[in-house]
Amino acid sequence: MQFSDFGLDPRLMSTIEHLGFTEPTEIQQYAIPAAMKGHDLIASSKTGSGKTLAFLLPAMQRLAKNRALSKRDPRVVILTPTRELAKQVFAQLRLLTSNSQFKAVLILGGENFNDQVKVLEKDPHFIVATPGRLADHLTQGHFHLNGLELLILDEADRMLDLGFSKQLEQINKAADHRKRQTLLFSATLDHAQVNEFATELLKKPKRIAVEAGHTEHVDITKRFYLADNLTQKEALLHHFLTSEKSQQIIIFTATRSDTDRLAKMLTDTDLNAVALSGELNQGQRNQIMDSFAKGQHKILVTTDLASRGLDLINVSHVINFDMPKHTEEFVHRIGRTGRAGTKGDAISLVGPNDWLSFKNIEAFLQQKISFTSVEGIKVKFQGLKPKKAKVVKAKPDTVKSKKAVDSRPRKVIKKTFLDNDDAGAMKIIKRKKPLTPQQIEDSTKKEQD
Ligand code: AMP
Repeated sequence: MQFSDFGLDPRLMSTIEHLGFTEPTEIQQYAIPAAMKGHDLIASSKTGSGKTLAFLLPAMQRLAKNRALSKRDPRVVILTPTRELAKQVFAQLRLLTSNSQFKAVLILGGENFNDQVKVLEKDPHFIVATPGRLADHLTQGHFHLNGLELLILDEADRMLDLGFSKQLEQINKAADHRKRQTLLFSATLDHAQVNEFATELLKKPKRIAVEAGHTEHVDITKRFYLADNLTQKEALLHHFLTSEKSQQIIIFTATRSDTDRLAKMLTDTDLNAVALSGELNQGQRNQIMDSFAKGQHKILVTTDLASRGLDLINVSHVINFDMPKHTEEFVHRIGRTGRAGTKGDAISLVGPNDWLSFKNIEAFLQQKISFTSVEGIKVKFQGLKPKKAKVVKAKPDTVKSKKAVDSRPRKVIKKTFLDNDDAGAMKIIKRKKPLTPQQIEDSTKKEQD
């Protein structure tokens, strides 16, 4: 299939050709025609699979073909969970609108409010935004959504996980009319709140699940290494950074303080690294992202802040210095490499503190993961094993029955984890129960803005 098969507006086609795209990706093949027919969509596809164009092209086509419902109101609103993802979407949109009369603006939290008011006064056709800030402008009447034709929710699962449901409902209500079309994209469709939300927001949606979140990304080679403690993780990291053939590298850590500490440690050893931590203001974050995107730094050290939305073709390696607490975050982190058909390497370091997350990820990926080792780095940690079944005597049966009473001792399986003597300096997480999704989210949220 070719882009020319969609019957897109000739100016849009020439922009696509100019960008060098010939064949639509799988999600584009399904989503573009369905959206062009006016259907609401609930779609999922793996990260880096071209889903941005899958919603931007039908949006551009709709604007080119249909008369606006209102002269002043935005015609398309695209909402994303993070500022980084919003910027990424905006960058692709700008490429598409460059050959048209359509104006697009970016409205992000953390940026100057009054400047945004001025920009909204210019009646843009497209708004790409994070939900919190856009809802603030809506509440204050800086724009209206009565004429909105297309509402696009990118990474809807993440927006809901981050607690944006109220803002999404507000935006939805403000644009509640028969002619509105809604496209909802989510990394996974296997998300109760997304499904609930879809029922509320979408009209007879078509479901498109090209490849689910846990699907193997063939362009990314995943390797897992065990580590006894922090010192060993650092030794492994040093080994990868000095021995692997690489282009740009993103290192993910669990906490902001680790991000800064690691970046400093790397720069002290003359490696060109920079830290993107949540404590920086938006301007500083933009500056770091831009300089990394321009190739001025080889290594970006970050928390999950950058796990979505960074679309950098030169990232050859993603290193999980710590495993993400939220399993789906693993897919997003490693999706920063292997973009648009390039090959990527994802290296994950698993210490005692990561074991629970690792087991959850293994279950999520639906595959048995084996570990690789590095010559010269001797690791004692081999994972935390569930405790052996404890044998307890069954209570004598007090009810008289004709059946023979089975008084053999019964096995009681206690789901708990053993302390590991070889765990070195690292603290062991002792959990009787796996984390609930809410607990995981709360702890992930603390790492973010
Ligand atoms: P996305 O999943 O939307 O973040 O896109 C990932 C990357 O794939 C971006 O760099 C896009 O520019 C690129 N891309 C999107 N569609 C195509 C296509 N049909 N052919 C080649 N590259 C594409």
